[in-house]
Amino acid sequence: MADEVSKKEDKATRPLVIKFKCQRCGKDKPLEDMRSVTRFLPVLVVCRDCVRELR
Ligand SMILES: [Zn+2]
Repeated sequence: MADEVSKKEDKATRPLVIKFKCQRCGKDKPLEDMRSVTRFLPVLVVCRDCVRELR
């Protein structure tokens, strides 16, 4: 029981924001803004702003 509480506190004090670097503009964006462009090899991982320009 005590273990569960301490785990919850640990999660709350550490905000988990995973960011990816756009391979086109070089900005760090959250995962939800990232898109992979599979028509490029190797696959290009860019933000949604850059995806629009690549289309
Ligand atoms: Zn970008």
